[in-house]
Amino acid sequence: MSADINNAFETKQAATPVKEGAEPSYPYLVYESQEDLDRLEAALTELRKTKTGSQLIADATEHQTPIRLDKAMRAYGSYDEVTNNLKLNANNDENRMVGTLAHELRHAQQFQKGILLDAYLDTPKTYIQNQAAIEADASATSCAVCYELALQGNDKPLEALRQKDPHFVNPFQNAAVKGGLADGSAYQAAFKGWFTDYCTRDSYDILYIKMARQRRSNCTREEEDKKFERVVPVADIVEKVCTSNGKPYMSRKETEEFFSTPDASTVSFERFNNIYANCYQKFDLKYSDMENEMKNKLGLTMRPHFNFMPRAVVPEPLPIPTVESRQAQAAEKIAAAKQEKAAESKPKIPMNVILQKRGNQGK
Ligand SMILES: [Zn+2]
Repeated sequence: MSADINNAFETKQAATPVKEGAEPSYPYLVYESQEDLDRLEAALTELRKTKTGSQLIADATEHQTPIRLDKAMRAYGSYDEVTNNLKLNANNDENRMVGTLAHELRHAQQFQKGILLDAYLDTPKTYIQNQAAIEADASATSCAVCYELALQGNDKPLEALRQKDPHFVNPFQNAAVKGGLADGSAYQAAFKGWFTDYCTRDSYDILYIKMARQRRSNCTREEEDKKFERVVPVADIVEKVCTSNGKPYMSRKETEEFFSTPDASTVSFERFNNIYANCYQKFDLKYSDMENEMKNKLGLTMRPHFNFMPRAVVPEPLPIPTVESRQAQAAEKIAAAKQEKAAESKPKIPMNVILQKRGNQGK
């Protein structure tokens, strides 16, 4: 498979006109015009300004992930773990492109860590939870990159991200303002915020139904016998992928608690029926008692249509510290440290000198 990708990539690369002297800064860019190259470079340049983004690019370079624009896609972007191809919607504006690139690069990173995800082999519940977990994590990562840029004075990518997804951007920001970048709590806040939007959750569940159908069309006999059986606990996936600064931002216990709430096992009415149709034969699910059968045998319950669900929880965002305020804060810290040092290095007057002085005064 990887050989196929390399060949396809090389053919494409050979046909790409590179402007004189302008080698792409990322060796696996695929583009058809100077304009495309410029747009891709612009997004990469923004990502490189941040610690999170630089790491994402370094990992993708190691993994030789081709990155290209696509004019015909509906989503903001996509990453295909089978072909290792990353696509960005050419219709994204420049600011939205930054968050999308971070999100998709995070997916590439997740799959490098060797996570198991198969719509046909996995139980519907674990697949749905695992897919949601990697989406929530990629979304938290896009927040991290955009927030780092905002701290540097460019808040446009963060605002572009917030426009559609305030339900995870605002929780990230609010935790970050309170120091949550260092301890990972900003990531965790965004991760949990992601689940409050039922419309987004259902759009991924729709994708799951499509993927399961697609996989069935090319599965082996052996796979068919084992369909929808494999249990991949969400805590395993979270443990592997959900890290910031090299440390997990959700403990195993926090993950298990979060995914054992009744809400974490719900799917929409439509998906409930789709999954029933996929699984009723295999698991002998009786139609007359569909809801209980699905709950007892597949661990899934139905939620009302998302129009009737609670609206996504969107807290008001706290103001982001400006470059000036952070500089002032840093200057204050330095001044305080200097003062402390000065106090320390002040020569101490030996006790006998003081006593001597006192003695002299007494004279
Ligand atoms: Zn995604």
